[in-house]
Amino acid sequence: MIEIDASVGEGGGQIVRTALTLAMCTGRAVTLRNIRARRSNPGLRAQHLAAVHAAARISSARVEGDKVGSSVLSFEPSGIHPGTYEIDVGTAGSTMLVFQTIFPALACCDAPSRVLLRGGTHNPRAPTFEFVRDAFLPVVARVGFNAQMTLERPGFYPKGGGIVHVTIEPRSAATELVLMERGAIRAITAHALLSRLPDHIAERELNVLQAKLGLRPNACVTEHAEALGPGNVLHVKVEAEHLESVFIGFGMRGVPAEKVAGDLAQEVRRYLDADVAVDPYLADQLLVPLALAAGGSFTTLPLSSHTRTNLSIIQRFIPVTAETDELAPDRWCLKLRVPPRH
Ligand code: AMP
Repeated sequence: MIEIDASVGEGGGQIVRTALTLAMCTGRAVTLRNIRARRSNPGLRAQHLAAVHAAARISSARVEGDKVGSSVLSFEPSGIHPGTYEIDVGTAGSTMLVFQTIFPALACCDAPSRVLLRGGTHNPRAPTFEFVRDAFLPVVARVGFNAQMTLERPGFYPKGGGIVHVTIEPRSAATELVLMERGAIRAITAHALLSRLPDHIAERELNVLQAKLGLRPNACVTEHAEALGPGNVLHVKVEAEHLESVFIGFGMRGVPAEKVAGDLAQEVRRYLDADVAVDPYLADQLLVPLALAAGGSFTTLPLSSHTRTNLSIIQRFIPVTAETDELAPDRWCLKLRVPPRH
């Protein structure tokens, strides 16, 4: 039984999700205490419970403490079963975070799985559908984890109701990731998604991105979707020679469209100026797949608290070692070494 104090470091939901994934993949039982102690609404919320229940189903786990608000959770898996699953977060909680919890485990099986996810697909403070499809999945495919994902309907807070279809393949040979350079920038494009909101929001956002990032009008696209409720999300995709990166801006009630786009442009500009390969969000999300594959090294912005915390939780399950090197104030190298057999 691995005992984890979930209030360490970032003290958020990622500790729960990483522990679930690695419990399934290593066959170890885990108990988490002080769950999400550093969040304003501590304990397990709907999205985390959906991840717990999905993980429990696919690994026939014995679970204790799986209640909303619970600060203690015990999870004892027994095998992983590929198959067809429908997972409903039940609220607008993030389906993408639930997907990232179960993906490595189902990929470790010798048959494919199909998963239907219902809930939020575009949530603040989480990877969006486009981030997972275009930034996360292509990089983890290089180390052996393969999935295809399609969006039937977006889901925004508070109505949710998003629908995503995923196929997860059995993993291919584990390879090391080497992403030290992103290479030449080939294109920068912007995409504004609107559901049940006026067009001027997207126009104003895209105007700001054109001005601040020097984008041409034909590099900017507005898409209308019929979600269950209103929603607006803005993506900038940077296509470089060695990878694609996705940056997200959320339209929020009370926040002017110009501010949403201005903040996003600043985030993209920092990434471009830093000349790194991996953005700081993708950095923390790559660590579990890398630890289950053959490790690797990449350049990124200064390590986030999510990245540092995730490393420390991974080390409770797998004896990985991490080396960080500050190449310049905004250009860091993270090297993850994985023992040959774990
Ligand atoms: P937690 O706050 O512990 O629930 O974890 C949130 C997860 O969402 C982390 O893996 C973050 O990298 C990810 N995340 C948060 N904001 C973004 C963003 N703007 N783009 C991509 N991923 C994000």
